[in-house]
Amino acid sequence: MKKHWRIETQAIQEGFTPKDGDPRILPIYQSTTYKFSSAEHVAKLFDLEVGGHFYTRLSNPTAEGFEVKIAAMEGGVAAMATSSGQAASTIAVMNICRAGQHVVAASTLYGGTYSLFANTFPKMGIEVTFVDPEADEATICAAFRPETRCLFGETIGNPGLNILDFEKFSRIAKKMQVPLIIDNTFPTPYLCRPFEHGADIVVHSATKYIDGHATSVGGVIVDSGNFDWGCGKYPEMTEPDESYHGLKYLETFGKLAYIVKARVQLMRDIGPCPAPMNAFLFNLGLETLPLRMQRHSENALAMAKYLEKHEAVSWVNYPGLESHKSYERAKKYLPKGASGVLTFGIKGGAAAGKKFMESCQLVALVVHVGDARSCVLHPASTTHRQLSEEQQIASGVSPDLIRLSVGIEHIDDLIEDVNQALLASQK
Ligand SMILES: *Cc1c(COP(=O)(O)O)cnc(C)c1O
Repeated sequence: MKKHWRIETQAIQEGFTPKDGDPRILPIYQSTTYKFSSAEHVAKLFDLEVGGHFYTRLSNPTAEGFEVKIAAMEGGVAAMATSSGQAASTIAVMNICRAGQHVVAASTLYGGTYSLFANTFPKMGIEVTFVDPEADEATICAAFRPETRCLFGETIGNPGLNILDFEKFSRIAKKMQVPLIIDNTFPTPYLCRPFEHGADIVVHSATKYIDGHATSVGGVIVDSGNFDWGCGKYPEMTEPDESYHGLKYLETFGKLAYIVKARVQLMRDIGPCPAPMNAFLFNLGLETLPLRMQRHSENALAMAKYLEKHEAVSWVNYPGLESHKSYERAKKYLPKGASGVLTFGIKGGAAAGKKFMESCQLVALVVHVGDARSCVLHPASTTHRQLSEEQQIASGVSPDLIRLSVGIEHIDDLIEDVNQALLASQK
């Protein structure tokens, strides 16, 4: 029966099935640890011979409810929740890439991910080559080295809002025999399921639409179970792990190998686990995700069309607009809508942009995207300010760019507020 559930039903029903007399709602297991009566049972848990929770850094029943639900919604085999989106991307890569190895990534990435790849990974001996995602296949393939271990991109680049050419990227990943890791934060599985387009692993900042109400920072890694870790390049999956008495992940766990290894090695040793309370809120957020993503997408499209005609606006960038460079791809990969974030250029540049943001009354100046409340931001002076101007432009940020995360309020109220702020910005 489960197999036939559509995503709206999965969003409500997956992850927690109460037995007689149990709470109807996934409980918040606010407990660091779990009680046992047999020492042998605990030993077996530690040796991964039996499944079960024994310490909340490694796993927790509330986090598990969230993990099972998001894995089902993405169409994957397993997931691991983390304390932030950054932790999810860090672990997703570190799980298969070590010092001396290499990553190829689209240059159009969220600022924090760009910085992780450009600054922090190199300090740990992992080098990253950024490629223009619009470059042709041969050019992108030329960035690969024998030691390259993954290809990384975002479904919708933040904040460039370019749509990834999944066909090209998944073809390259297959040819180069590495997994394609996709940050699917902006579309969420309601609007796009990257595994259906050849991605192998998905990461999310759950902080954005999954939470949806700006309450909690968190992330999650989902594995499709499709990548062949036995291809010869990933001995950490096939050879004995001495930190687990010689356990071989692929042989023992099959399609679950990638997530089990991420959990028992990296979550064990580094420890960015989600708080049970936050996992509860992410699970709750998922319940209404399909409804919210519909409204976010409708409102953003209406706002984009309005801004396109506004005299104070020089350009509008929203993948749902026919004028957008990725419009055909948006129709192909995001047929239900292009999510809630758009960017535009304001006449009068950075100074007018500042005035605009300060004149908004309903739309709030907030360093955030993807929650029910509309918000606005100037990336060049905030999220991307640690990058050089060259790096900013490579990741899709121009100095006059304003990013608007369109919420689920009534569109007429939003347009009214944006219009008065635009008029004020031109004075
Ligand atoms: C916010 C964001 C992240 C980072 O997530 P945090 O939860 O803030 O750590 C990663 N990718 C994208 C696309 C984001 O928008």
